[in-house]
Amino acid sequence: MNVLVVNCGSSSVKFQVIATDKESIAKDSDRRLARGIVERVGSLSLITFSAEGRPPHKDEAPLKDHRAAVDRIIRWLVSEQARIPGVSRLADIHAVGHRVVHGGERFKASTFIDAKVVAGIEDCVELAPLHNPANLKGIRAARELFGSGVPQVAVFDTAFHSAMPETAYLYGIPYQLYRRHKIRRYGFHGTSHRYVAYRYRRMLGLAKDKVDVISVHLGNGCSACAIKKGVSVNTSMGFTPLEGLLMGTRSGDIDASIVEYLSLKEGMSLSEIDGLLNKQSGLLGLSGLTGDMRDLLAEVADNRDRRAGLAIDIFCARVRRYIGAYFADMGGAQAVLFTGGIGENSPEIRRRVCAGLDCLGLKLDARRNETLKDGGLGAITKPSSALKAYVIPTDEELLIARDACRVVSGLPLPG
Ligand code: ADP
Repeated sequence: MNVLVVNCGSSSVKFQVIATDKESIAKDSDRRLARGIVERVGSLSLITFSAEGRPPHKDEAPLKDHRAAVDRIIRWLVSEQARIPGVSRLADIHAVGHRVVHGGERFKASTFIDAKVVAGIEDCVELAPLHNPANLKGIRAARELFGSGVPQVAVFDTAFHSAMPETAYLYGIPYQLYRRHKIRRYGFHGTSHRYVAYRYRRMLGLAKDKVDVISVHLGNGCSACAIKKGVSVNTSMGFTPLEGLLMGTRSGDIDASIVEYLSLKEGMSLSEIDGLLNKQSGLLGLSGLTGDMRDLLAEVADNRDRRAGLAIDIFCARVRRYIGAYFADMGGAQAVLFTGGIGENSPEIRRRVCAGLDCLGLKLDARRNETLKDGGLGAITKPSSALKAYVIPTDEELLIARDACRVVSGLPLPG
């Protein structure tokens, strides 16, 4: 089955086409037929499309909204120019899988999209005002353009964390606020954490319930996840993606009293403070330069910039702290799994995170750590290391395609 995977952001639409079925899932042999991105939706959009094994096709076009972007993607997919094997007309796309950021307490697994599910995702807009509206635009566009004959499936970032125990998801605020407003920790990046745990168990030939790992997704957004017996039991993002690790532009954990203090001292409104904590903090706020880790590392290497160095130190210390906390939370773990743009590509950051973890039995193999980047996958610890570490490039799209295939074909979803 050819699944179109759609990931809509506020001004972008990313997609992949993945050929998958029951057999390819079992054999781990699904095929990626095409991928691409439309950026700057709403103005002169930048288009980058590529079919398997061929150089990318770049273009510019005024695409006024997400519908226009999805329309453009579909027309390219079936075009002569794309020449995707097995895809020459709309009917060759058999299902659409959508990334949806927030499923609230309602959606605990991937689900077939009907009018009720659309309404349910709309109900979660309050919880994810920046993300769910864009996801809904993608869903509506695909439903309109493909018609009712092509099934659509929603795959939620929050779903993997939906089995977290109350001890992990409740905040220490009056309980009725949870009951009344569903203020609790939800966690995000769930599909990524789920994928790296899956890839780890395939690599080692383990049963799912034998997987006790701590996964750290370090990209522009960052989160850690405690995975016990293959299930998320804790994660560092909370009610929103703001909580937890230090990120490119997000502060991560702070004392909530700072909010009122800031409003008094700086005369800022609540929404300005929210913007400050989400968009002007983290690596960017501390360094005063950039939220991009690669650029910060270059700044330290080339110019010995003190605050860039400080931002990186705080970033690494916070990752280490969460690994330690989850190690204790879980009563021990087999491995730390690094993923995301930073986790996959920066030996330096991995080295600095792992440097304090010898107390947990982690012995880094410096040479292996240096060589693993640019899509490489494997262990970065010595064979004698009690706590192992691995680099595992994430692949959320693959799980979205597989879940869409399972839902559409009536196959059971992995628990
Ligand atoms: P997103 O969370 O938006 O998907 P990514 O997972 O692509 O983002 O991660 C982006 C981050 O990864 C940026 O901070 C970028 O600088 C960092 N990054 C990418 N490659 C490297 C590298 N070789 N060394 C250090 N950081 C890198």
